[in-house]
Amino acid sequence: MSGVALDPKTSPVFPMAAKAALGDTQMRKNVRHATNVIQTKRGRVVGEMPDWQQLREAGKQIRQHTMEHLDFYLEQFEENCTRVGGVVHWARDAEEAKRIVTGLVKASGSDEVIKIKSMTTEEIHLNDALEAAGIHAYETDLAELIIQLGQDQPSHIVVPALHKNRQQIREIFQRKMNLPELGESPQDLADAARMFLREKFLRVKTGVSGANFLIAETGGVCIVESEGNGRMCLTLPETLITIAGIDKVLPRFQDLEVVLQLLPRSATGERMNPYNSIWTGVKEGDGPRAFHVVLMDNARTEILADKEGRQTLNCIRCGACQNVCPVYRQTGGQAYGSVYAGPIGAILTPQLQEMHHAQSLPYASSLCGACYEVCPVKINIPEVLIHLRNKVVKQNTAGIVGLFDVEAGAMKAMAMIFKSERRFRAAQRLGRMAETPLVRKDGRGVGWIGWLPGMLGGWTQVRDLQEMPKETFRDWWEKRRTNGN
Ligand code: SF4
Repeated sequence: MSGVALDPKTSPVFPMAAKAALGDTQMRKNVRHATNVIQTKRGRVVGEMPDWQQLREAGKQIRQHTMEHLDFYLEQFEENCTRVGGVVHWARDAEEAKRIVTGLVKASGSDEVIKIKSMTTEEIHLNDALEAAGIHAYETDLAELIIQLGQDQPSHIVVPALHKNRQQIREIFQRKMNLPELGESPQDLADAARMFLREKFLRVKTGVSGANFLIAETGGVCIVESEGNGRMCLTLPETLITIAGIDKVLPRFQDLEVVLQLLPRSATGERMNPYNSIWTGVKEGDGPRAFHVVLMDNARTEILADKEGRQTLNCIRCGACQNVCPVYRQTGGQAYGSVYAGPIGAILTPQLQEMHHAQSLPYASSLCGACYEVCPVKINIPEVLIHLRNKVVKQNTAGIVGLFDVEAGAMKAMAMIFKSERRFRAAQRLGRMAETPLVRKDGRGVGWIGWLPGMLGGWTQVRDLQEMPKETFRDWWEKRRTNGN
């Protein structure tokens, strides 16, 4: 991938990035339009399923069970994949995964690869690593191709170029494919991409893919897609290298019955994906002669060890939570500074960083719960967001550093005040005195504060503060009792 990579380690914090994104009216219009279209389609196909809630529950149970026995199913997958001729590699982290894939491509004798859309390879910036090793990667998914040619970054996990409109895509294709006369109809653009990619499909001998699901029972790998480019990448190359997070495993072939109903309906509003490819090992005279699977951890076992955060790994990457999120719909995906944007990004990215980076993301939510409502595997995203906020606070207020944290200090002081009636009354009296020079009055004598100094100013930047009442309820009640009422 070219352009500045979305890296949680170096990206600006979400509030800053969001502020900049909000100024891009064209991007916001594109995101709103695209998410509205997908949501309408999703609503229609979900509405025709009388057992949708039972399906969601079944999806949740399958994913939850898998995570509880992940070690067992991963080993079962390895055993069965190896039995049918695949080679399984284990990667502890992104660096190891990149090293393995680069080595495998070189060993295949190729300096080019054709790629199927894969968020896992985006997560580890695989294309940059390949490029550094002298290997050129061609993205073959239409949206990924747009991103790659436009030197852009993905903004959605299912529709990575969702922030671009047709005119912008046409301009990229005209420039990069040298097609000055190119029209802007969907047909024109699809034809141009097809012509551009066909020669690569036929020439390049090594393919790299992600995986939607790994099937432990058979050692098979499943990919769903809409364009047929995936099918080409899986069948034409001599060597196929699949890289997948360890969370992608499913116990049984039969589990596909549930997830392949949930995923397309939630992701693109389709009853089923046009292409559902499942490949299992190698077969003489049919498809790739060498097949490798790289199983990558990259902090997933840390997430698994966290009881509350663990449900994040149940995600089947449908993107429905992104389409419905009021924050994502305003800022678009790139403001999240990670290839995983929206509500799933807000919970997954900081955990993949072991809470060392992307600490602002759990706060990039209004906690409205819309993401939970649409999630096909019932991940309680608001619950995880609150859990992660708690972790962020604990992490930032622990030890010596915590002693100097102003917010934590203020909270401790508040707790002290609220614990004692005497201190509470004194604080009220003090507050009334301190606010006097700041209070402004309207024509009816109603007082408000429109400006506060220092870090308290964050409150008054976006709202006024009401003047404290001259008499508290407690004062009024005591006066009333004293007067014998
Ligand atoms: S969290 Fe749920 S809704 Fe969001 S991408 Fe994952 S499966 Fe889809």
